[in-house]
Amino acid sequence: MTDKYMPTSYESSVAAACERLGYGPTIESLMSLAALELKVEIPVVRDNGELAIFTGYRVQHQNVRGPCKGGLRYHPGVDIREVRELAALMTMKTALADIPLGGGKGGIACNPHEMSQRELEVLTRKFVKRIHREIGPNSDIMAPDVGTNAQTMGWIHSEYSAIYGHSPAAVTGKPLALGGSPGRDKATGHGLGIVVAEYARLHDKPLKGATAVVQGFGNVGFHAAQALISLGVKVIAISDSRSAVHHGEGIDLAALSAQKRARGSLKDTDGHNPVEPDALFEIPCDYLVPAALGNAIHAGNAARLACRTVVEGANTPITAEADLMLRERGVTIIPDILANAGGVIVSYFEWVQNLQRQVWSLEKVDTELELILGNAARGVFAHAAEANLDLRSAAFDIAVRRVKEALDATGF
Ligand code: GLU
Repeated sequence: MTDKYMPTSYESSVAAACERLGYGPTIESLMSLAALELKVEIPVVRDNGELAIFTGYRVQHQNVRGPCKGGLRYHPGVDIREVRELAALMTMKTALADIPLGGGKGGIACNPHEMSQRELEVLTRKFVKRIHREIGPNSDIMAPDVGTNAQTMGWIHSEYSAIYGHSPAAVTGKPLALGGSPGRDKATGHGLGIVVAEYARLHDKPLKGATAVVQGFGNVGFHAAQALISLGVKVIAISDSRSAVHHGEGIDLAALSAQKRARGSLKDTDGHNPVEPDALFEIPCDYLVPAALGNAIHAGNAARLACRTVVEGANTPITAEADLMLRERGVTIIPDILANAGGVIVSYFEWVQNLQRQVWSLEKVDTELELILGNAARGVFAHAAEANLDLRSAAFDIAVRRVKEALDATGF
């Protein structure tokens, strides 16, 4: 296990970008400090009759470019420090994508895998009851993240709409039946595929026959694996939180999904060899996709990574120390604020559709996503080449500059 308080690369990336851009300490602080932090205690009567109290957070980092936007996470490790950093990261992600939104994040410290649907529904609805004055289509829009899904967003929509009238634009990642967008479910993984394809095209590296290893079998890991496979990449290993499997000829995603549904684990899927989860990162491959939790790659395992490129499907999966170690070894890192931005971009499309009372086709969503994310990726790759920077630094330069320009335009 790693210390979850290890500094991730967010703070150092912002500080370095501000220095390169010649921005002073006030701007640097603004890029890290949150505008609003909410902490609420939520009592829930468990199915066994006992009362449990859960702590929830919502952090609004920046709204100068648009309403705060970002996921709501259910995980036992959630705390204010994590949520604060992830909220700031969302400001950078929306700025890099150049969509008119700011950054926010929420979380409730709980273990959703040990809770019933009824308990989760009560928890979610009570959370909305506590914070509804601070959220909404023009202020702060939640979405799925680790441990939450379309159903969670459906409860948020229903609770919020009970207070303010039908308000689908108050939350994204909703079920389709409640105004969710086609393509939102696969958006983060699908977007990761778009970014990898752009990277490969630029570097003249054919994807057909390239290999990938994916850590995580949740929404991001699953759809990232699917996107890479559809681009011709051979995904040779994948893991969930308990098990990992390898298949030299490429994993069978459908068989693994069926096994996971039936047995709760990827273990013993026909034709796939077991791998120690800790050894997953040591499998030689072209693209390693950490798509589980933060700090998965740290000083203790970075030296053993056997990939050429890390594509950050998760948010902050690499600690600051490991980031440096990997760069020194010549490993390319495609940063989270670019690699996983597909999710928030399609959330933006959902918000736009809801505000305009429109429904887009999946084709339109996919085309628009390709356009916005493709532009963002090309912008990062071009700036990195011009300024001789690694990709994270290049991405932060662009994002920090956009936020600063907006602040300046307000007369700040
Ligand atoms: N939780 C996702 C992220 O970290 C999506 C956020 C959103 O759609 O607002 O980017």
